[in-house]
Amino acid sequence: MEEHGNLTYSCIKEKALELGWDDVGITDAIIPEEDIQAYREWLVANCHADLKYMENSIRCYPEEILPGAKSAIIFVSFYKQKKEEFNEESGLIASYARGRDYHNVHRRRLKKFIRWIEEVTEQKDIAKGFSDSTPVLEKALAVQAGLGWFGKNTLLIHRRYGTFILLSGVFTTLKLPSTATKQLRLPKCGSCTRCIDACPTQAIVSPYLLDSNKCLSYHTIESKKPIPQDIQAKNPGYIFGCDICQDACPHNWRKPLSETVDFQPDSGMGSHLCHEKIGVIESDPTILFGTPLNRRKPKGLKYNFDCIREKK
Ligand code: SF4
Ligand code: SF4
Repeated sequence: MEEHGNLTYSCIKEKALELGWDDVGITDAIIPEEDIQAYREWLVANCHADLKYMENSIRCYPEEILPGAKSAIIFVSFYKQKKEEFNEESGLIASYARGRDYHNVHRRRLKKFIRWIEEVTEQKDIAKGFSDSTPVLEKALAVQAGLGWFGKNTLLIHRRYGTFILLSGVFTTLKLPSTATKQLRLPKCGSCTRCIDACPTQAIVSPYLLDSNKCLSYHTIESKKPIPQDIQAKNPGYIFGCDICQDACPHNWRKPLSETVDFQPDSGMGSHLCHEKIGVIESDPTILFGTPLNRRKPKGLKYNFDCIREKK
């Protein structure tokens, strides 16, 4: 692989692993036109529901985030946790949300990575980090970087870790060698439809197309409106998020669990919220700080919990 000064892919990977990521790929800082087109069609169909920030054009054009951006370095965090059962007394929390808030975890790592890249190249202002909080079509960049491919559940299926992964990245004005392989753009799901069949609310309306208006993750995390009754009636017991289309995917079977301390349930709010735990959260909302559940706030979690209870 080519080098850029002292910056080779192997030293970037070594640094990424040292900072806690599980894999890394590099590609040009250009979102493929077919992904931009598919994204626009998804927006036009209103599949993003009330997530208006997703209409922001920055998602498609890295230049708007970092002028002169030439390369994208895409990081993968593997977070898979033990598959937990539903129970009568509590609501289940999606796997990614049981430990610390990944935005903070990634932000810390990105800061250190950018400082390192500036030191190695002896150049300033050459890189800008992004995680979920900066809108970018990061899955498209990850596919382009050869890290995996799109599944019919619309998630990135990482070639080694499956779909229980989180993406973050860095745009840089450096021209770095790409890790892409063309074959990964090809669909790999074959005739499988397990995720589509397993989704309790039929939110995967067709292969590779997810309608947020029907998705439990959207309704239990993002939406500010009451959960529609027909959606709630199909909720098997999630209080925050939903893992069903990931649990159904064979690419996640027989994978080890993540060992990242920040993503472990005992680093955050754990796997379930019961009536007592909701009460504790209501009397001390600071307990949620630094966890993904803080996005829903005590009031929203209590609402979600009551919705599950009503159904039972
Ligand atoms: S997260 Fe749950 S509700 Fe949303 S598409 Fe997947 S299975 Fe369906
Ligand atoms: S469950 Fe099957 S169809 Fe869905 S993403 Fe996984 S492999 Fe593809």
